[in-house]
Amino acid sequence: MTWEEPEAAVGRFVGWLGDALPDDYHRRYREYRRDLEFRRSYQLAAFEAGWLVPDWEEGLGGQGMEPRSAQWVRLEAARRAIPKPPCVQAVGIVAHSLRTFGTPEQRDLHLVPALRGDEWWALGMSEPDAGSDLRSLRTTASVDGNHYVLNGSKVWTTQAQASRWCLLFCRTENERTGNSDVSCLIVDMALTGITVRPVAMAVGREDPFCEVFFDDVRVAASCVLGAPHEGWAIARSSLEAERDMIWTMNWSDLYRIMGRVAERCRQKPQDPIPLDLYGRCLAELEGIARVGMSASNQRLDGRPSADTYIMKLLASEALQHVVALEANIVSPKEICAEELQDDLYESLAATIYGGTSEIQRNIIGERVLGLPRPTLD
Ligand SMILES: Cc1cc2nc3c(=O)[nH]c(=O)nc-3n(C[C@H](O)[C@H](O)[C@H](O)COP(=O)(O)OP(=O)(O)OC[C@H]3O[C@@H](n4cnc5c(N)ncnc54)[C@H](O)[C@@H]3O)c2cc1C
Repeated sequence: MTWEEPEAAVGRFVGWLGDALPDDYHRRYREYRRDLEFRRSYQLAAFEAGWLVPDWEEGLGGQGMEPRSAQWVRLEAARRAIPKPPCVQAVGIVAHSLRTFGTPEQRDLHLVPALRGDEWWALGMSEPDAGSDLRSLRTTASVDGNHYVLNGSKVWTTQAQASRWCLLFCRTENERTGNSDVSCLIVDMALTGITVRPVAMAVGREDPFCEVFFDDVRVAASCVLGAPHEGWAIARSSLEAERDMIWTMNWSDLYRIMGRVAERCRQKPQDPIPLDLYGRCLAELEGIARVGMSASNQRLDGRPSADTYIMKLLASEALQHVVALEANIVSPKEICAEELQDDLYESLAATIYGGTSEIQRNIIGERVLGLPRPTLD
């Protein structure tokens, strides 16, 4: 691990970014945001230069940076609205799980293609009757010789139609204990018996949801991530990585939209602006960055923290506040602008994916505030 002052690390990153991004990137953000090929080349360039995950080792998209400096760089990247990888879950969630739980063979086979963006990954958690309550998972994998036979279905599986692999959570019988446990499988999406159906969307998105059906799909036993029946630990860790990714992404959008609002106010000072909403959004913008930074420092110091639940909740709701603020001040014509519409739809989803706001509140209530778990009777 190399020691470097966080400010110096950020300075190097900003210098690199100046060369990596086109001069008109921020002006034409909407076009670049929809350009998957552009985002793919940025991901590859960041991987090769060690800026994709700076605290990871060289060769894995990092440069062995001290985690505190890497956190500064991450926030600076969010502030500058860097291009998101075309398949965010491959970098922000799956790669973490592979690196933490994968066998050496699994890491060798999958990590680099996922981080370079050569192979996309779907995340197979949600099912028709198991969204907020993942314990209700019903997809099963039963042992047959040196294979698992997979049956069931997943839903809301982002980009499954274009993914090479799926990180899939399913029920397995633990013969030793007689319990039904959860295991995590690396599933090749080209296997016989898998049907992927994209869900028709009311708005155009570059990352459609899918339903995925598994009918007697034979998956080699070597494709269990880590060890059999360890799925809960992997799910917890994957969801933690997901919340961490989400709050930074939402904060990045919040910062960008707030910039747009401020610019409009400069250009049309005569237009009224709801100052209470404006003040709230400014406070949220500042507050989230500070709380996020101090929470991650706390985590780096080894002090347990429920920070990702809190940050996910705050950032996703703040994103909706800033979009509401902008919708409040623009003209009826401006409200139809495609960029604002994109942000509006994206912000609506933010309080659902990665666990809804209600679920984050439940968990914060129970684990942080020590409140009793609500009962139905
Ligand atoms: C853009 C987007 C991308 C997604 N991508 C993926 C993906 O790639 N892979 C994947 O597996 N999933 C994905 N999801 C699914 C997402 O994880 C689920 O939508 C989410 O966990 C909620 O589950 P659900 O939709 O089944 O809602 P439900 O669990 O049915 O909940 C319905 C409503 O009831 C509320 N509720 C439920 N239980 C409680 C409770 N105990 N207390 C209070 N309120 C409660 C919820 O907050 C919600 O408002 C994605 C979702 C979105 C929006």
